[in-house]
Amino acid sequence: MIIKKLLAFYIGSLLLTQTVLAQSKNEYHYLVDLTTVKDDKLYIELKPPVISASEITFDLPKMIPGTYAIEDYGRFVSEFKALDKKGNELPVEKIGDNSWKIKNAAKLSKISYWIEDSFDTKLAGPDIFWPAGTNIEENKNFIINSSGYFGYFEGMKAVPFEFNVIRPIDFYGTTGLIPQQTSRPLNVIKFEKIPANDAKRVDVYKAENYDQLVDSPVMYAKPDTAVIKVANAQVLIGCYSPTGKINAKQIAASIREVLMAQKEYLGGKLPVDKYAFIFYFTDKPVLNYGALEHSYSSLYYMPEATIDQMNQQLRDFAAHEFFHIVTPLTIHSEEIGNFDFNDPKMSQHLWMYEGVTEYFASNVQVKYGLISPDEYLQVLSEKMYGMEQYNSDLAFTDLSKFTLDKYHDQYNNVYVKGALIGLCLDLELRKLSGGKYGLRNLLLDLSKKFGKSKSFKDDELFAEITKMTYPEIGDFFNKYVKGTAPLPFTQVLDWAGVTFIPEEKFKDFSIGIGNGDINVTQLDEKPYLYIVSTEHMNEMGKALGFQQGDVIIKMNGETLPDLGPTFGEFLLHQRETMEEGKFLTYGVLRKDAAGELKEVELKAAIVKVDLSRKYILRFNENATAEQLALRDSWLKP
Ligand SMILES: [Zn+2]
Repeated sequence: MIIKKLLAFYIGSLLLTQTVLAQSKNEYHYLVDLTTVKDDKLYIELKPPVISASEITFDLPKMIPGTYAIEDYGRFVSEFKALDKKGNELPVEKIGDNSWKIKNAAKLSKISYWIEDSFDTKLAGPDIFWPAGTNIEENKNFIINSSGYFGYFEGMKAVPFEFNVIRPIDFYGTTGLIPQQTSRPLNVIKFEKIPANDAKRVDVYKAENYDQLVDSPVMYAKPDTAVIKVANAQVLIGCYSPTGKINAKQIAASIREVLMAQKEYLGGKLPVDKYAFIFYFTDKPVLNYGALEHSYSSLYYMPEATIDQMNQQLRDFAAHEFFHIVTPLTIHSEEIGNFDFNDPKMSQHLWMYEGVTEYFASNVQVKYGLISPDEYLQVLSEKMYGMEQYNSDLAFTDLSKFTLDKYHDQYNNVYVKGALIGLCLDLELRKLSGGKYGLRNLLLDLSKKFGKSKSFKDDELFAEITKMTYPEIGDFFNKYVKGTAPLPFTQVLDWAGVTFIPEEKFKDFSIGIGNGDINVTQLDEKPYLYIVSTEHMNEMGKALGFQQGDVIIKMNGETLPDLGPTFGEFLLHQRETMEEGKFLTYGVLRKDAAGELKEVELKAAIVKVDLSRKYILRFNENATAEQLALRDSWLKP
């Protein structure tokens, strides 16, 4: 997945004739009715597979793969009922946030419950990462992440699933799954109490097991889709934009080039024949947004903006999520290969699952000309900045192993330091192989050696890679991934003829606040920037007189725009229009003596102040032939 904190098809055949599917007894048959929303909840019914045990436990997941955080989906269930053939209730005992124990289970004929969505829930518990969440917005949008709708019986995760979705006739389901049937009339559905209705249709989906079910989200809304063909693969884009600011055709045009480049990066062919990009845009203010990968799809939750405002971000996100097909979806340890939804175990290899994926997502763009080499160096520099927010004394393998608990606040470092581990490893491999073998080659070899259904042993990966490559790579892992030595930027970048300058001082105008001074807080459910510390503030910030806790609401008399994709442009404009001799003003909310928030104006004369720029990367114009050759192998196709 990828998280951004602020700051910083195919049409299934239209089957009007009723081919009722053979309903094997050894399947779960689920029904969800999107046309009846009551109190923001949906009705779910399950006809279970055959159960011979006298007692059985029904679970919803505590966690799903890819999020590296606890979700506790069982919270969203209410009015849970287990019924026998005659409709009598069987005894049920709730035995945890996510589990129900059913007695006389051999008599079980039906389970029913109501489910609430995570997007606007007021229930206590962990915040669910949006793209792993569920949405119930009557007549507008439904996001079916199965982990938040459908459960499984303990010990019966490998049994096939069928789910039937009753939908309004004008809704379409975007998913990477191939529907068994779409538009089945209601009167043939094998569930009781669902009256025939011309305005409703049923779509039927199947999954081989619970893992595939959870790996296959579906988004329902009025159709806004586009299809692009990339080599062997058909790629579906489904979009929900509440005010229509952006549409699927625009997104398709934007990410087509990225996918073409990714195809080349992966050796000329995409590793899937079909894939769905599912985009949900929100017009509400957001604190964070992101995307989650699946084997045949990825789901995006992003603030609504025009295609011009978010083009690069869309490409970066799409490239990252699509590359997850390589890892962890194809290359993963047993902890992921045999995922335990209710007692999850963590792997130590987030440096690879998220770090290398993020590294590839920008490396592919420079290699195939979607961004310039200078822009690419800027991307790397920003990652170096990003690393500063996290604990540099923490071994990456430990961050990974304990990311659910003690190091949860360090997780986002996987996108910054993780990607830079990828950079250093790529350059080290290229140096050792005379430019012939890079990180991309290694991952392609690992995916041949392992694969979707063949996991590696978590403790053996470093030794395995060392055996496949060079002893020096074993040293690299010991020092920089299992160890905490600072990454060797100066050395590895020099091999590619790039000069690395840790810090450079200069004088210029400043808006007084920067990374480290500010963070995001919520006020009346809207996000605002506030002063988190004045310790490292520059002379301009000091002259303005910011105090810790100040919430910034105005700048030069203008109300700050909502934090979102256009916020950076606003700040840039303010910065670019600064002139010597004029004044810079801020409006902040500050607590007065009585503890009440009052607006205070801060004002200072604009002068050039001492500033420093960190992490400067520059191409060395006098690079040797050897350096240039390594640079080319790194940045050219
Ligand atoms: Zn990711």
